[in-house]
Amino acid sequence: NADAAMYRAKELGKNNCQFYAHEMNATLEQKLALMDGLRRAVDDQQLRLVYQPKVDLQSGHVFGVEALVRWEHPERGQIRPDQFIPLAEESGSIVAIGEWVLREACRQARAWQDAGHAPLVVSVNVSPRQFDDRRLVARVADALRDARLDACWLELEVTESLIMRDVGQAVDKMRELEAMGIALSIDDFGTGYSSLAALKSFPISRLKIDKSFVRDLAHSADDQAIARAIISLSHQLQMRVIAEGVETEQQRDFLAQYGCDEMQGYLFSKPVPPGEIPTLLERAVAPA
Ligand code: C2E
Ligand code: MG
Ligand code: MG
Ligand code: MG
Repeated sequence: NADAAMYRAKELGKNNCQFYAHEMNATLEQKLALMDGLRRAVDDQQLRLVYQPKVDLQSGHVFGVEALVRWEHPERGQIRPDQFIPLAEESGSIVAIGEWVLREACRQARAWQDAGHAPLVVSVNVSPRQFDDRRLVARVADALRDARLDACWLELEVTESLIMRDVGQAVDKMRELEAMGIALSIDDFGTGYSSLAALKSFPISRLKIDKSFVRDLAHSADDQAIARAIISLSHQLQMRVIAEGVETEQQRDFLAQYGCDEMQGYLFSKPVPPGEIPTLLERAVAPA
């Protein structure tokens, strides 16, 4: 009986191993195929940018937009960045993709200005490998020059973990960008590990409250406390503060009541193709 049980356990173990190996191969294969596809995505013009408005909570006006990349995969349709940015980061394709995003966002910002719209700050997400690129500052300067866009209309979003890896190096690079006139913000604030002492040495103009703290804001006393703490920290450090993922009026009202400066989220608009931005500029919301 004991032998039989042992035999069954072994069989089960073997099957489990086979099962996992099979699963792993499927995802590994998928991953490699996506990585391979990503190498050509820029040249084959499969990337698109959508833009999500950022709204000033006092005036109700759109003052900026965040550029968010989408991949129109020839077989798999539209793929969200969460599913391919980490792969591009791993394979190194992120440098070319990031460069394309930066140049396209600057070009679009300039095109809106040329069309006579009130100028918007356009925000671009920067991932770790892209930030580490020795030529980042030069690439940003080139993108601005080629688009004939003044640096004051560009903002870069970085994450806490990115800048906390090597504080000295990050401070130097960010000071260079700041000296050019570019604004820097910290994305997903509160989800990483920030040294508060280091935070004040960075030339940051804005903290973004992560949407995980906004989601249950109406019901969760913890999330309310966290949001208030981030708002007050931002203001103490002379930064502005924006909440991402604002979906309801209740969330917006809480944030406005706590003194949050700006918001971004489905309540005002989802990320949209560039052609839809001009209409959204007209649609100022009633101040909270
Ligand atoms: P993120 O920069 O924190 O962007 C916010 C994400 O939240 C976006 O997802 C946006 O579509 C989504 N979002 C906005 N409003 C709401 C809302 O009200 N509710 C909910 N549930 N979600 C909302 P998306 O576009 O899928 O991008 C995901 C992440 O991928 C971004 O997070 C960013 O980290 C990264 N990413 C996107 N575009 C780029 C890029 O061009 N370069 C790099 N390096 N990363 C990018
Ligand atoms: Mg962002
Ligand atoms: Mg974010
Ligand atoms: Mg995020």
